[in-house]
Amino acid sequence: MRYISTRGTAPELDFEEAVLTGLARDGGLYVPAEIPRMSPDEIAALAGLSYEEVAFRVMRPFLGDALDDETFRGIIARAYAPFGHAARAPLVQLGPDHFLLELFHGPTLAFKDFAMQLIGQLFQTLLDRNGRRVTIVGATSGDTGSAAIEAFRGLGNVDVFILYPHGRVSEVQRRQMTTPTEDNVHAIAVDGDFDDCQSAVKAMFNDMDFRDAVSLAGVNSINWGRVLAQVVYYFSAATSLGAPHRPVSFTVPTGNFGDIFAGYVARAMGLPIERLVAATNQNDIIHRTLQDGSHRKTGVSPTISPSMDIQVSSNFERVLFDVYDRDGAAVARLMDELRDEGGFDLSQGALSRLQEVFASGRASEEETLASIARTLETATELLCPHSAVGVKVGEEHLADGVPMITLATAHPAKFPDAVEQATGQRPALPPRMADIFERPERVTRLANDLEAIKAHIRGNIRA
Ligand SMILES: *Cc1c(COP(=O)(O)O)cnc(C)c1O
Repeated sequence: MRYISTRGTAPELDFEEAVLTGLARDGGLYVPAEIPRMSPDEIAALAGLSYEEVAFRVMRPFLGDALDDETFRGIIARAYAPFGHAARAPLVQLGPDHFLLELFHGPTLAFKDFAMQLIGQLFQTLLDRNGRRVTIVGATSGDTGSAAIEAFRGLGNVDVFILYPHGRVSEVQRRQMTTPTEDNVHAIAVDGDFDDCQSAVKAMFNDMDFRDAVSLAGVNSINWGRVLAQVVYYFSAATSLGAPHRPVSFTVPTGNFGDIFAGYVARAMGLPIERLVAATNQNDIIHRTLQDGSHRKTGVSPTISPSMDIQVSSNFERVLFDVYDRDGAAVARLMDELRDEGGFDLSQGALSRLQEVFASGRASEEETLASIARTLETATELLCPHSAVGVKVGEEHLADGVPMITLATAHPAKFPDAVEQATGQRPALPPRMADIFERPERVTRLANDLEAIKAHIRGNIRA
């Protein structure tokens, strides 16, 4: 299986290199040269299998000869063993045609665990085999960093440094990053905001001496391995509701467009998905784009669903590549325009092709709170604010006879303040992590100073 860049000029890579590299050298994102297809019989055969077996059958065709089957099964088994629910991604019913896919039973209570747990085990196996080690550096507004530290803790070939903005993540998110005791994981509280953390990371990737000296690697949401891991639950959910014999639709709380893009890949593989509905909060660039084809950045405004407070949806580039007939030069021109002029307009053809697959909607802060309260009342399900955005928009897109599956992206206890504001109830953490408030924290606080951050990383890798 070959992987090509969305901007058309970076070298083609195999699965292993695409996953270990992350960003392509021409600034683009890696996508498979061809999406493998599954026949209706192969899809029907997934119903009733364990999550791990579905994961193996759905992801296997993307690997080429990177791993033998037994090794890959072992990776999947270790990745999902720490989940707190036997089904891994259970479905619950909200209404006659509306279902909720609970993706928050992983070790850090957000859907990021599905991809990060798999990537951790994949990295370990691929690096071991070649006697290599890497240093992972990432910036987080909360969920990605906690999932990464959890997934890589204790792994022999990887040191992990996560930069988060001091004082601007929730207490649960912070403690998930600061309480693991393994000496290969490091939480760094930066005196700055999320953008400062992100630009420090970008600067390190652009500093070739530093990059080579520490063998820098990235696991942010553009990593192909992360997208691939997320394709699996679209298959497990759809087949448990009757696919491929009947089509389903999905509503996805959307920020960086990674999760919903995984649904697009599932559809391209042959899963009968009628509609993919992107649900945004008031940071609605994706909703606006899907309505009228105008992709324009505005300032980010903070909301009660902070993991969707994004104005550059990196993974959107992957779908653009398709609707521009895989013309890398055309995509590169749009991305230059976005950088230089703050936006671009889609061609009429590209917009109609997007609208054949995607629909969209948005929820204000008040609508999000109302959605949490209403869903508790009508379905006795407590939603996190991100999932509540999804449920509100999902309800607006119900169609007769086509089940709607809305993705629940985080556990309500990860965002207790918003949930309490909406319902008067303070959601409790699952018992297996209730002691997180007692464990000692370990964190290094640093000034927003690139050289100081680099010195700290160099001084703490176990070379
Ligand atoms: C990351 C995240 C999202 C957004 O997912 P994208 O793949 O960035 O679109 C939504 N909800 C939660 C809880 C998240 O952590």
